[in-house]
Amino acid sequence: MARQTERASERSDPRSRVPSVAVLLDDPAIQQLIGVWSRPLVLDAIRETLDAIRSELASKTVALKAGAPSAGEIVARVEAALLETEKDRLRPVVNATGIVLHTGLGRAVLPRRAVDALAGLSGCCNLQIDIETGLRGKRNYMSERLICRLTGAEAAMVVTNNAAATFLILSALCKGREVVISRGQLIEIGGSFRLPDCIHQSGATMVEVGTTNKTHLRDYEAALTENTAMILRCNPSNYRIVGFSKSVGTEKLASLKARQPFVLVDDLGCGALVNLEDYGLPKEPTVQDSLAAGADLVCFSGDKLIGGPQAGIVVGRKDLIAYLKKHPLSRMLRVGKLTDLALEQTLRLFLDPETLARENPTIRMLSAPADALKKKALRLQKSLAKRAPNLRVEVVAGESASGGGALPAAPIPTWLVCVASPDRSAEELCRLLRRHEPPVVARIADDRVALDMRTLLDGEERLVGAALAAIVS
Ligand SMILES: *Cc1c(COP(=O)(O)O)cnc(C)c1O
Repeated sequence: MARQTERASERSDPRSRVPSVAVLLDDPAIQQLIGVWSRPLVLDAIRETLDAIRSELASKTVALKAGAPSAGEIVARVEAALLETEKDRLRPVVNATGIVLHTGLGRAVLPRRAVDALAGLSGCCNLQIDIETGLRGKRNYMSERLICRLTGAEAAMVVTNNAAATFLILSALCKGREVVISRGQLIEIGGSFRLPDCIHQSGATMVEVGTTNKTHLRDYEAALTENTAMILRCNPSNYRIVGFSKSVGTEKLASLKARQPFVLVDDLGCGALVNLEDYGLPKEPTVQDSLAAGADLVCFSGDKLIGGPQAGIVVGRKDLIAYLKKHPLSRMLRVGKLTDLALEQTLRLFLDPETLARENPTIRMLSAPADALKKKALRLQKSLAKRAPNLRVEVVAGESASGGGALPAAPIPTWLVCVASPDRSAEELCRLLRRHEPPVVARIADDRVALDMRTLLDGEERLVGAALAAIVS
């Protein structure tokens, strides 16, 4: 009797009619998915989907009559689960934000020649052997040589990023001793990089001088003790202290070395190698300026104004760089062949200032004249009028930002294509653009989607047009 009831309830429980994993694996539609996504990933998606279905059925006591979903419905859900997991994989996106060095979007767009060089690296390479002798050779040889040639530095070194460069410098040269820094330069860069924490972790003792808005040479001078190993200057990243403010330049700080020896370090952050004024942009201190002003070491990122791969670069005195290279941390912070090659190819572009703005996407985007962007915007507007006539599209003047802690106080005039839909909010449009393939990332301004023409690469306005047309069709 008890057994009979059990069987009856089993039959009426739709959970028992949910197909098994084995049955689903034989389904031709699932076999097709395996061909595209691989068996392990499809298996995961099937298990996830079946678990979800069983718990839905268990909780929906009233809807029991609806029964278990059909095989076709389950396959559709498995495919949706696969697409959902794949949506966050690393892949190309269209940057319509107007932020040229967008950390969330991979910062600098690599120059074509760097990408081509990476593609050519399908076999082995002489990462660390001397081709002449066959013995152990130097890593990063050509990148370092080019950095020295371009900056006039005695020596150079490449590590994983500029945060690592700062940490290496402090750990190797300041551990157990004092580093003097202005209160106006105790920066946080984002991604939890806070300079005071970095100094603390390195084992150095931080000696703060001055106030948030003003630091004088005499403040630094008064802080020097026999235990001072370093004065660290930090380029204000992504902020400016404006108004009643004062900071001390590298040259003045270098003059204190006549009083007692210490290492003067300039953390430049964005690492301009050329005078940006030549490209119609506001002045940004160059690496050469810092070295000429007497910095012993200068560090900066490879993927900010250089426009190359993520890397941290240290240049300066030969003896100090040699010492850094021997420090155990430098083994942990070294870069691989992909970074070295992409950096070398990017640096080569700086040898020819004539072609730099054409070949280096970062410099090209930053210096693109507003009227060329307006033309691009009008072309997109015209194409949208045909392809998506129910969108309200307007071309308006706006401002782009360099991002990445470069030129923080200098918005760059640009042209935006602003889009509104009668039946979707700006948030919804933005979300659908991000979910398009390739994803398009835009910002919202005045309840409209604002597409900045400055950060679109050649031809990408067509992708944006196609994405919008597909969304509203
Ligand atoms: C960006 C920046 C850093 C961090 O550089 P990463 O390459 O992102 O690690 C450090 N210091 C300054 C001044 C910066 O602008």
